[in-house]
Amino acid sequence: MNSTIASISTAPGIGGIGIIRLSGDNCFNVLEKIFKAKTPKKIEEIPGYTIKYGHIVEGDNVIDEVLVSYFKAPKSYTAENMCEINSHGGNVVMRKIMDLCLRNGAEMAEPGEFTKRAFLNGRIDLSQAEAVIDIINAKTEREATEGTKQLEGWLAIEIRKIKKDLLEILSNIEVSIDYPEYDVPEVQEDDLRKKMDKVLGKLLELAKSFDNGKIIKEGIKTAIIGRPNVGKSSLLNAILKEDRAIVTEYEGTTRDTIEEFVNINGISLKLIDTAGIRETSNEIEKMGIEKSRKIAKEAELIIFILDASKDFSDEDREILEKIDKNKTIIVLNKIDLKTKISKNAKEIKDFKNIVEISALKKEGINELYNKITNLFNLNEINLDNEVIITNERHKNQIQKAINSLNEAKNSMDQNMPIDIISISLKNVLTNLGEITGEEASEEIINEIFSRFCLGK
Ligand code: GDP
Repeated sequence: MNSTIASISTAPGIGGIGIIRLSGDNCFNVLEKIFKAKTPKKIEEIPGYTIKYGHIVEGDNVIDEVLVSYFKAPKSYTAENMCEINSHGGNVVMRKIMDLCLRNGAEMAEPGEFTKRAFLNGRIDLSQAEAVIDIINAKTEREATEGTKQLEGWLAIEIRKIKKDLLEILSNIEVSIDYPEYDVPEVQEDDLRKKMDKVLGKLLELAKSFDNGKIIKEGIKTAIIGRPNVGKSSLLNAILKEDRAIVTEYEGTTRDTIEEFVNINGISLKLIDTAGIRETSNEIEKMGIEKSRKIAKEAELIIFILDASKDFSDEDREILEKIDKNKTIIVLNKIDLKTKISKNAKEIKDFKNIVEISALKKEGINELYNKITNLFNLNEINLDNEVIITNERHKNQIQKAINSLNEAKNSMDQNMPIDIISISLKNVLTNLGEITGEEASEEIINEIFSRFCLGK
């Protein structure tokens, strides 16, 4: 018999309702000691997915008026007997109920233990469990959607298909290990090679999708750089459409670094506003250039703003020469004024992406969005049916599988003994099994679940 675990599952703080969750073979015994239903029934007579009204009590004392949901194994989140006590959402009440559960035979659940049990009981695979964390931590709708897709198990399905192909290759090979007198004929070798290439193609595609997945999950690290007063804050505000960044007529007042996520077509830009280059004294100005170059280097997208009504400064020229042109969008701001810089200026002629805007009048902002979308093929990413890997661990495992498969192919090219090829192919299976969890070590599993919040 397993232990019964309990945890407060709703976020800490005051709320309308709070949920205390219990899971384990014995969880109804714990419940019965602390819950008085209005219309009591024997536990055997209560079907799963039933909600009962009543009170949590400590002896004769009523602690709270609650609703309790019953879930019976294996039809529950953990695949064990479970119940959820919906109490009032006050900290004191919830802690009191939790305390009663613990005193009546339940143990405090570890972070992620409910989901871990769902995995260990075989209800979900490891990649699905990880999707649960992704959904909880999602910052954009798109990210949540990817998490939901993964929760449905598409990655496990995809991997199962690849494993099936691999097993077929392995069984072909193993015939010739078991019966060495039947040497693998040339024709069969060609066929095996083709099958391995097919598997390799699928793995490479999955690995590639990670880059897109990363954009969805982490956002594009974006630096908005430019001299003081060119309109960085104004642009930021135009993008954010709210007054989060301070817009000012004086130089050097917005000194705090502002970090903000902005959604464009469901993809998030992680904005790093560089306040350092706003300083006016020479020395600090120099430091500012260094700092902005450093930030530009670290960014995946640079939005370089110039005040089109003024000429380039020496610092502008210096930075323009040094930054990566492929990841930069030059924004010529203040085109509502009389302009001194045009798109054809020699300082920026090597840049492919130049947009003219007026941050003040909110003109040209859409064109800027389009440029960003094109630069990162975001429209392509938005293809809904694309299978995307968003988890770094999964990507690493797939990379390992690719390496093992390439090893198998090389061994074949070098006419190595067939059992050597077979070992590499078995490694591919192991590498993939670690994604779904069949082959994952306890250490990996513990590490994954330790990242969960309490009560999930
Ligand atoms: P930052 O120092 O780069 O953040 O620049 P700000 O956004 O604080 O803008 C500096 C000044 O330029 C403010 O007075 C803004 O109102 C003004 N400004 C910003 N964008 C435009 C624009 O497109 N046209 C005009 N005419 N003024 C602008």
